[in-house]
Amino acid sequence: MEIACLDLEGVLVPEIWIAFADKTGIDELRATTRDIPDYDVLMKQRLSILDRHGLGLNEIQEVIASLTPLEGARDFIDWLRERFQVVILSDTFYEFSQPLMRQLGFPTLLCHKLDVDQTGRVVDYRLRQSNPKRQAVVALKSIYYRVIAAGDSYNDTTMLAEADAGILFHAPDNVIAEFPQFPAVHTFADLKGEFIKASNRTLTL
Ligand SMILES: [Mg+2]
Repeated sequence: MEIACLDLEGVLVPEIWIAFADKTGIDELRATTRDIPDYDVLMKQRLSILDRHGLGLNEIQEVIASLTPLEGARDFIDWLRERFQVVILSDTFYEFSQPLMRQLGFPTLLCHKLDVDQTGRVVDYRLRQSNPKRQAVVALKSIYYRVIAAGDSYNDTTMLAEADAGILFHAPDNVIAEFPQFPAVHTFADLKGEFIKASNRTLTL
């Protein structure tokens, strides 16, 4: 049995915080772990910025609903789901991703969760577990699935290494150079080809 694990942001949808900052014009929300390496400090800062701008979950979801998946992403995921069981492994939050997941037909998603009070204010966040993408692959292998995984960035590389086959998609040059053991492709047509190659079954486009 084979299962496909896909990263979400940068693979199927845009980087949600960046796109949200663009839509709202709130530049401070463009900070990433490259600017603030401590993820907890970064997230607390993001939540306080949302507060300051009076953005509760309803307003946030309204903005995110105006975003669309990357071109070709819906067709790709439909193609993949006809050939593999598919799980999306992401470091986003269910509440943020929901408007985009709707446009992708709600495939299975394992990610993190926000704490929201009755007024819609985002008060805190909860990470599912540490090293969540790799741990999900470990878990799937423990029930004897053969795992093929694809992602675009550093936070995917432990998942790709743990999988039976790993593929870099839309990855920047520095990640491709640092992880030459993974095939790297940039179009959904080529990604389909890599999944077909990685499969132990005879699949067709
Ligand atoms: Mg990504």
